[in-house]
Amino acid sequence: MYNSLTWVEISKANLLHNVGVLRGLIGDDQILCSAVKSNAYGHGMTTVAPIMKEAGTNWFGVNSLSEAVELYECGIDAPIYIMGYIPLDELEEVVLRGFHFVVYNKETFVRLREIVTSTGEVAHTHLKLETGNNRQGVVADDLEWFIDMYKGDKGLVLEGLATHFANIEDTTDHSYALLQLEKFEKMVSSARAAGLEPNYIHCANSAATILFPKTYFNFVRAGLSNYGMWPSNETLVSSLQEGRRIEFKPVLSWKTRIAQIKRVPAGSFVGYGCTFKTTHDSLLAVLPIGYYDGYDRMLSNNSYVLIDGKRAPVRGRVAMNMTMVDVTDIPTASLEKEVTLLGVEGDEKISAEQLAQFSETINYEVTTRINDRIERRLVDS
Ligand SMILES: *Cc1c(COP(=O)(O)O)cnc(C)c1O
Repeated sequence: MYNSLTWVEISKANLLHNVGVLRGLIGDDQILCSAVKSNAYGHGMTTVAPIMKEAGTNWFGVNSLSEAVELYECGIDAPIYIMGYIPLDELEEVVLRGFHFVVYNKETFVRLREIVTSTGEVAHTHLKLETGNNRQGVVADDLEWFIDMYKGDKGLVLEGLATHFANIEDTTDHSYALLQLEKFEKMVSSARAAGLEPNYIHCANSAATILFPKTYFNFVRAGLSNYGMWPSNETLVSSLQEGRRIEFKPVLSWKTRIAQIKRVPAGSFVGYGCTFKTTHDSLLAVLPIGYYDGYDRMLSNNSYVLIDGKRAPVRGRVAMNMTMVDVTDIPTASLEKEVTLLGVEGDEKISAEQLAQFSETINYEVTTRINDRIERRLVDS
């Protein structure tokens, strides 16, 4: 059961729009694999996935077996690709369920060979190649070992070759990303020269999908852009410099209700640590949300919410489950009145990017950290 005092609204229209934009960018022949890991970046995986499928998503990218199972069990009829590490003792279930998954460890291969031999099933693997991120990935020197394993066992299917960019959204200088792309193409060529025949070649995340068609190959893995956010200002600037006119529409709004209205005299302290002291008689509203919900403590004395289309500044520290805002100049604020923590009200807006700036992080983290226990409600517009 959800706490009815706070909820997230997911705009179906905007989600359809964004997936349509991505589909338009990559064309009809490429696979659009939409990342729905981390509860679809906080948007609610099982809420958004069916709509994304309707709008043109072909595959779904998740982080773990548990996410893959949850997605499968909500009835999604599309390939599910697991992009995170799968522990050795979960590999058999992954293979038996027919999920697609990334591989890069020798230990994983040794275990997979046992599994395909004993079950007669095939493992749908995507080999991650190290090209400069130094996160997941097989280094060039080890490639031959993996190639030999694939050639030695028909149950080990090399379905894809993949890599991941390290420095594509943090800068307008894309030389490192393009260097990675070159390394990737070389490694793909050597795998092919050795006789491997991967169906899919992929490296594009959202920023690459927006900026570099030559990264598409026949499969892209876009996450954030599905949800109507830009990977960074740098990506937006680079895209505009290229003369592209891409419009993404934010999908998520986060709402709550006023839990108390309180009049306090000038000189009153507000919240833990007495970090705020009123300079005039004030009207405060207590909101039933806090850092447990994902409203970052960095937003203490450092953000605003929207009430009736007006900004109400956060006063004092954000607590675990409560936050105070100043509504002195919003006479319509009343008990249980709706409040927008993230989203648009009239002419005013509080975006994930704005909250990210206030809390010194990125839009990805702002929406991803909205607690899973908060209801995601689908709205049409
Ligand atoms: C999350 C993820 C993506 C998507 O990245 P965005 O920047 O959100 O588009 C792509 N590839 C991998 C391996 C990922 O884990």
